[in-house]
Amino acid sequence: MSAHDENPTSDSDSRPTWAEIDLDALAHNFRVVRRTVAPDVEVMAVVKANAYGHGAVACARRLHDEGAAWFCVALAEEAAELRAANLHQRILCLGGVWGEQAAQCVQARVTPVVYRFDMAEAVNRAAAARGEIANVHLKIDTGMGRLGVRADSIAEFARRLAELKNIRVEGVMTHFAAADEPAKDDFTQTQITRFNNALDAVRSAGHAPTFFDLANSAGTFAHSEAHGNMVRPGGVLYGLWRDVLPPSETAPGLRPVMSLRSRIALLKEVPAGETLGYGCTFRTHRPTLAATLPLGYNDGYPRALSNRGQVILHGRLAPVIGRVSMDLTIVDVTDVAVAHEVRDGDMVTLIGKDGETEITAEAVAELSNTISYEITCGISNRVPRRGMRAEG
Ligand SMILES: *Cc1c(COP(=O)(O)O)cnc(C)c1O
Repeated sequence: MSAHDENPTSDSDSRPTWAEIDLDALAHNFRVVRRTVAPDVEVMAVVKANAYGHGAVACARRLHDEGAAWFCVALAEEAAELRAANLHQRILCLGGVWGEQAAQCVQARVTPVVYRFDMAEAVNRAAAARGEIANVHLKIDTGMGRLGVRADSIAEFARRLAELKNIRVEGVMTHFAAADEPAKDDFTQTQITRFNNALDAVRSAGHAPTFFDLANSAGTFAHSEAHGNMVRPGGVLYGLWRDVLPPSETAPGLRPVMSLRSRIALLKEVPAGETLGYGCTFRTHRPTLAATLPLGYNDGYPRALSNRGQVILHGRLAPVIGRVSMDLTIVDVTDVAVAHEVRDGDMVTLIGKDGETEITAEAVAELSNTISYEITCGISNRVPRRGMRAEG
């Protein structure tokens, strides 16, 4: 479907609300990252959380075509989804493994991050049962305070790990808390120092890790001293950067991957002085052309955008009026209709570009008091993801 196709009958037999996934933009962004790091630095593509809402399998396939050799997921369940889709690249499971997942990961050659001794023991047992040696990546907590062995107790942990003969510490990693905030660069430097000391301690305990990695998107773009020999960017692959990278990174050349679109379900003329939507929070102050859109907060369009958000119709902005409800949102298209005929079925852009006008996920996030990741991750499963058809 082209952006200018206004015939509602050209849609398939489904509600006309969809997320367009521009895999060419994803591939472009991967190449931008590739160029940002030295040639000998491995780039892991973080595709956790369904590739931040963009569709993990489709994104991983395209990234593989671009040469991605490693994917990161949060859950073993997410790794299994990639394996079931015949993706055979290396997968790092960032969140660790639970119960039987240790054995499932060993069997599927999914590499767990370990940060608890019993988790390492479970992987060791599963590998021993198969007569194999399984790779694990050891996570160090250098200041984030979430997962990871605290840097001050890593020496003892690494010594105990060395007794587990069926695992190999293939990687040592940590995660930055504030790599996107120049005002906190001292803290980032402290994390780097703690990591380097921890890496020494791990080596002293007899391990010979192949990979050492610290950098998320912000670390990849703003802290080249922290590239190690592997980086783990997520957000920038999806073209999210305005609230991800430090403000100094003004135009990193990344392209947004997701657009959220819908079509006018019902257009109506409303006289001045009437209220619209739940709670009667909006009152027309003039004769108003109101368009009801078939999407709402259950689709991931934030209710916080009630009476605040904007959409694009025929290349022009139109404001959200009244409360965003579960399945429906009302917009005021009166001013658009002055310049361009507006009809039922016309395409509306909630995130993305139409003509010269653009609404970024970052802008939607800012209006909703959150970050762009929560917006794209929040686009729910009932919104179909569609690959974009080439222009023309
Ligand atoms: C999510 C995550 C990343 C990627 O972070 P971005 O900000 O999206 O680049 C990297 N490493 C770990 C451990 C993560 O959990």
